[in-house]
Amino acid sequence: MKKHNVTALLLALILLITASACSNGDEGSKDLPQSGTVVLEPIEEEPADEDPGDIPQSSSVPEEPEKEPVPKPEDESVLILVNPWNYIPENHTVELETVQGKYQLDKKAAESARNLVAAAKEAGFNMALCSAYRTVAKSAELYQRKVNEFLNYGYSEEDAMIEAAKWVAPPGTSEHHTGLAMDLVSTDYWNYYSDLEHDYENFDSFKWLYEHCAEFGFILRYPKDKQDITGITYEPWHYRYVGVEAAEYIMENGLCLEEYLEIIAE
Ligand SMILES: [Zn+2]
Repeated sequence: MKKHNVTALLLALILLITASACSNGDEGSKDLPQSGTVVLEPIEEEPADEDPGDIPQSSSVPEEPEKEPVPKPEDESVLILVNPWNYIPENHTVELETVQGKYQLDKKAAESARNLVAAAKEAGFNMALCSAYRTVAKSAELYQRKVNEFLNYGYSEEDAMIEAAKWVAPPGTSEHHTGLAMDLVSTDYWNYYSDLEHDYENFDSFKWLYEHCAEFGFILRYPKDKQDITGITYEPWHYRYVGVEAAEYIMENGLCLEEYLEIIAE
C-alpha cells in the first residue's frame, strides 16, 4: 500500500513537473521570437536606472573641498623627478654638504640626513651611507662597468646595456644626480654582505628606517610593489628627500614619488 502510495505520489509529481516544465518551455518558446528585443530593453534600462542613481552619488562632489589638501613642500624643487624617462636637467645645480665620510648631499637634504642617521643611532642602529650625490660622469663609469660584466658573460652589446640598466641607472637617469638621494644600510648588514641586496629588508635597522624616514623628510623611493611605475627594482636601501610634508603623505598612503606627483598635479 505504502509503495503504491509513494509510486502514485511520484507519478503525480512527475506529471506536475513535466507540465510546468512544458508550460515554461512553451512560454519560453513563445518569448523567444520577441526575446531579441524584449530582453535587450531591460538591459538597456538597467544602466539607465543606475545612472540617475549615480548622479546623487556624484553630486557628493561638493564634499570634495572638505578633503584636506595634499600636503606639498614649501620648496617644490625637492620634488624633482629623475627616473628612466626623466633625465636630470643639464643645468641642474647642487650645493653639496658632507653627510658622512666622503658622502655628500644637497644642502636641502643634508641636515635631515644627518639627523636621520643620528636618530637611528639613538635607536640602536649604526647606519652607513654607501652612496649619495653622484655626478653624471660617475654614473656613466658605474653603468659601463656593469655593461662590461654582462659582455663578459657573453651578452650582446644591446642586451648587456638592457641588463645593466636593471642594476645601475644609465647616466642622466640616476636620482643620485639630484643630491637628494642616498643609499643607507646598517653597518652590521654591510659588514656581513658588503653589497646591496634585497635581504636588507629583513634587518631591524631597515624596519626602523621604513617607519621613521618620513619624520626626516625621506621616503623609501623604490618600493617592491611599485616597480612598474618607478622603472627600478625594489631597493630597500635607497631613500629620497622630499620634505617632511610630502614624505609623510607618501609613506602613510603607500605611494611612490611618481604617484604623488600625479596626485598633486590634478
Ligand atoms: Zn640609490
